[in-house]
Amino acid sequence: MSSLAETILVQVPPVDALSEPQVCGRCCAWCGCALVADRIVDLGERDEEGRRLFPRACRICTAEQVYVQLIGHASSCEQCVDNGALCPASAELRRALREGRAR
Ligand SMILES: [Zn+2]
Ligand SMILES: [Zn+2]
Repeated sequence: MSSLAETILVQVPPVDALSEPQVCGRCCAWCGCALVADRIVDLGERDEEGRRLFPRACRICTAEQVYVQLIGHASSCEQCVDNGALCPASAELRRALREGRAR
């Protein structure tokens, strides 16, 4: 979690570990459950090892996984220690967390 990409995305399991439905976003990237339309959290489209990924997740996993990532990030990020409101990585993680908790 040291290099800051232009848009920081929520970290998901490596593409090799994902099933086809998980790659397409039909199933949760973490637990693999089938996603219900109004309970999906979009984790952000990305390229990994030449493959296009559309990871999405259920709210339960998002609350757990993204929370852990946010805590881990905030403790190792100079910008967050200084002012987390200005950190794009933190903003993206918070957005996902918010979506996971919304509704
Ligand atoms: Zn899940
Ligand atoms: Zn940060």
